[in-house]
Amino acid sequence: MLKTFSIGGIHPEENKLSAQSAIQELPIPKIATIPIAQHIGAPAKAIVKKGDEVKVGQVIAQSSGFVSANIHSSVSGTVFKVDDVMDATGFRRTSIIIKVDGDEWLEHIDRSEDLVTEITQTKEEIIKRVGDAGIVGLGGATFPAHVKLSVPPGKTAEVLVINAVECEPYLTSDHRVMLEKADEIMVGIEILMKALEVKKAIIGIENNKPDAIAHMTQVATKYSGIEVCPLKTQYPQGGEKQLISATMKREVPSGALPIEVGAVVQNVGTAFAVYEAIQKNKPLFERVATITGKSLKNPSNWKFRVGTPVSDIIEAAGGLPEDTAKIVGGGPMMGKALVSVDVPLTKGSSGLLLLAEEETARKATKACIRCGKCVSVCPMGLEPYLLMVLADKKEYERLENDAVMDCIECGSCSFTCPATRPLLDYIRLGKGKVGQIMRARK
Ligand code: SF4
Ligand code: SF4
Repeated sequence: MLKTFSIGGIHPEENKLSAQSAIQELPIPKIATIPIAQHIGAPAKAIVKKGDEVKVGQVIAQSSGFVSANIHSSVSGTVFKVDDVMDATGFRRTSIIIKVDGDEWLEHIDRSEDLVTEITQTKEEIIKRVGDAGIVGLGGATFPAHVKLSVPPGKTAEVLVINAVECEPYLTSDHRVMLEKADEIMVGIEILMKALEVKKAIIGIENNKPDAIAHMTQVATKYSGIEVCPLKTQYPQGGEKQLISATMKREVPSGALPIEVGAVVQNVGTAFAVYEAIQKNKPLFERVATITGKSLKNPSNWKFRVGTPVSDIIEAAGGLPEDTAKIVGGGPMMGKALVSVDVPLTKGSSGLLLLAEEETARKATKACIRCGKCVSVCPMGLEPYLLMVLADKKEYERLENDAVMDCIECGSCSFTCPATRPLLDYIRLGKGKVGQIMRARK
């Protein structure tokens, strides 16, 4: 029987419409809008100003703390301005806007397709280079990768778990990277293993990607200590705690980090970015994203330069369908609606989903019938029906005691509720408030 996590989970319609579409390169934009905060943690600090000439790969904003990440130019040209512009969530955030001129890369970046397998850097050099290259978790979490590689004193990493489950419906970018860049990913994993001083890596892939499982398993035989673990398709298996439960059969306690059970989790796309940073001197300024939707002419996967407007990728996929009611950044379960097609794609853009009116219509909320379905699907063992009520009544102390902060915002509860109660919406509000209270206490 295939492995999966121990409690809860759902199986939404997969809709992997773009799975057969090989990665294509999106044309370079005319203007790139590059936000200085594309990661969890402190925003980077802009170090260029209007009129400066920049090349592809050049640092344009520097990390401003331990949990922060450098930002590099994805294009060559002239800085037009450094200004607050609207991002995907509708907030105005500082961005570096560059008028593109040609495509001039820093000379030390190796642009060849040659596979470089020999790893010459020490553990310390790898962690520093990953930090310098501005690599963040590419599964959507955007947590700076070098921080996860810096194991806290007193803790020991035993296993590197590679998140290649891509459990969100519709998204296929990780799937395609695995089919097209398997060797590079394996070397990236070896580099991560060296940085963590672990002898074992497990790549978790859901069994709705049999071609990726077969290919990665075959390629992994050339590399020691790396195994592929096929997993039952079950959302939200991409959650760190769920993936550790599925692949290692270890449970991360409430409020603890994966390192407590000897695990460090990195996304498969991140492993590829680490390969490029260490073996090719290439910082993170481009990545692969899926553009998809049932009405879209050409659901597909594209390698894009950070800062490219969303409208460019929609155009490349056949243009905006007339019936589009909502554009979601990320997958349908955990993604967030975009406010405009003029906002830029960033390091965290794993996909864009175009939804038609009938797919987005909210159904009327009915009274809870105490069926318990939300409880049985919650992968964190919470009681979502109760958390919603407590959040609504602003009972924050009880919310905290009932472990609201353990909620991974997977949306399984709202998805399954027969009374169509907006459980996650309320839980998110409650979490925000409890988080504020907890921070104020420190
Ligand atoms: S309470 Fe949170 S973790 Fe549990 S199902 Fe709902 S969204 Fe997911
Ligand atoms: S799934 Fe909906 S109706 Fe059932 S117990 Fe949970 S909140 Fe109530």
